Amino acid sequence: MSEYTKWKGPEPRPYYAKYKRLEVSNDCNGWFECYELPGDITAICEPQHLQEVNVFIIKGKDRALMLDTGMGICNIEPLVRELWPGELTIVNCHRHFDHTGNNWRFPEVLVADEPHAIKQAETGCPHEPLANQADEDMFLFGYPEGFVPEEYCVRPFNAKPVEDGHVFDLGEREVELIYTPGHLEDHLMLFDRKEKILFSGDMIYLGAIYVQFSSDIMGRSDIGQYIDSLNKVKAKFPEVSAVYTSHNDFIMPPDCIGVIRDALTAVKDGTAKGESLRDEKYGYYEDPVTMKQYQFDGFSIVYKE
Ligand SMILES: [Zn+2]
Repeated sequence: MSEYTKWKGPEPRPYYAKYKRLEVSNDCNGWFECYELPGDITAICEPQHLQEVNVFIIKGKDRALMLDTGMGICNIEPLVRELWPGELTIVNCHRHFDHTGNNWRFPEVLVADEPHAIKQAETGCPHEPLANQADEDMFLFGYPEGFVPEEYCVRPFNAKPVEDGHVFDLGEREVELIYTPGHLEDHLMLFDRKEKILFSGDMIYLGAIYVQFSSDIMGRSDIGQYIDSLNKVKAKFPEVSAVYTSHNDFIMPPDCIGVIRDALTAVKDGTAKGESLRDEKYGYYEDPVTMKQYQFDGFSIVYKE
């Protein structure tokens, strides 16, 4: 695993230099950056916000599948149309704001057939629990033009439930969807059968991995389900060639699935040692006795006992 950078503020990240940058017009004054990744995948990222979230476009001969819509701080829709003018299906890896912020700008978004995901599509997510995400120091170069921090929220959108195991036929390319609860109840991943790429959403990436959610608004994590989901993915897709992740560096090697599964198991069993975590600025309001961060090689796990 690559070097772990302590995630305490936005900063320019060196790993983007590994990938081929695309010149685009509708990038909202540089807010969005686009990269062409191996396996005919286009990534859109938002490196100026601490979340550093990634959106992926998987292109087939006849249509494309897009995983998530980003934070909703800038309008991603014209950029998506520029990158893929054809037929497009959008699916969310889970309902958190950083993946669903631009959903409302599209006619329809597929979500897991799970009550919390369906409910959020109807209600959106209000500003209050997301207010710290709109703090100016979450932004590398200050606020982008037109962004109103006091109004930041996830707006309601038109959701369509998609079932576990659904296969998208993109034309000479099939992508299989798998439910993977753990980070949140409605989390799912995608497996590209053609290129053997696993799109892991928020369950695998380099950085702080979150297994501490326990509220009505932000949802609930479950470490046991998380481990079960990673075992299910390993058993179902033993031929994964690469893991494309929804935050930070885009690509991780396939053995990261087992590495993160083993780390979670050590946290759950109490054999890993964690440090107390309470940091209101970054949204960790919990009791530091039960809220802990566990450091591993290249990533950490944030967990509430
Ligand atoms: Zn996320």
